[in-house]
Amino acid sequence: MHTKIKSPALIALSIPLMILIGCTKQELEFTSLEKVDAHVHIRYSGPEFLEQAAQDNFKVVAVILDHYDIDAQHAYIDQQRDAHPGRFVYTTAFPIAGWDEPDWEARTLARLQKAFEGGAIAVKIWKNVGMEFKDKDGKFVTIDHPKFDPIIDYIQSQGRTLTAHLGEPRDCWLPLDEMLGTSNRNYYAGHPEYHMYQHPEYLSYEEQIAAMERMLEKHPNVRYVGCHLASIEWSVQELAKRLDKFPNMAVDLAERIDDLQLLDRDEVRQFFIDYQDRLLYATDFGIDEEDDPAAIAQELHDTWMLDWTWFATDSVMTIPGIDQPVQGLDLPREVIQKVYASNASRWYPGL
Ligand SMILES: [Zn+2]
Repeated sequence: MHTKIKSPALIALSIPLMILIGCTKQELEFTSLEKVDAHVHIRYSGPEFLEQAAQDNFKVVAVILDHYDIDAQHAYIDQQRDAHPGRFVYTTAFPIAGWDEPDWEARTLARLQKAFEGGAIAVKIWKNVGMEFKDKDGKFVTIDHPKFDPIIDYIQSQGRTLTAHLGEPRDCWLPLDEMLGTSNRNYYAGHPEYHMYQHPEYLSYEEQIAAMERMLEKHPNVRYVGCHLASIEWSVQELAKRLDKFPNMAVDLAERIDDLQLLDRDEVRQFFIDYQDRLLYATDFGIDEEDDPAAIAQELHDTWMLDWTWFATDSVMTIPGIDQPVQGLDLPREVIQKVYASNASRWYPGL
């Protein structure tokens, strides 16, 4: 039965109904696109993480890194691959430990060969290179060191992707009151041991970025994905300069979307349009054996939905860790499709 005049009860009902319809439309668009989260960590044997990914229509790139035991990370991946075929791909890594030993290069190449034969589609280098590891002479080893050249040449010759987390956000080298991000300020206030501004004995921010640039100058044909916006999260103009200079470089957005939300919204929106082929959606979300899997799955879903709302709508949103409300980018749908899906397949062949 149709009625032209709504009863007060129906009017009261129609408001939550409209909100529900609005949500459903956005969630429908979110769910119908097969998306990729190009940077997650799975050190966990249960199904919950990848089941949530399936539910939200995400494939993931599981990143193995030289921070935890590499073989143990591979064991988790092998187990998950049997349980969730086709739901994810993974990177491998190699230990920097043993760097000064004469057979380090041969051992590293043999390890990579075995990992590639096993299905690894990329190699991840972590920030211990440049930020932590020192050679026998007490010097920091950076990514442009000649000993990395045969390793990078081998990765390239095997058609694999090199991906690296080098350096840290620029805020790490700034005094607390000059930092862009409130969450960074809170973090470094509580972790002075990681606050490089207080540790001039470490390499500078500029030295970290310059080492990456020198590596890419030596290896212009390696397919390179710079993690965390290549640690140039504080300026889309500075990041654009590097993307212009190195055509075989892309960047993932892992754990740096809130840094972009601090910048000028229209400039960031234009940056996504101009560099729509070079940006990979990613969260850096992880799960470990000791985590509560239901809580992680819920947090993962909430993060994916929050990010989607920022990219796909012009809603004014409250973001945890950001003092001001931010407005969504409402990106053109072809840009969203690339950033959320096809760029990952292009930069990580095998996905
Ligand atoms: Zn990560």
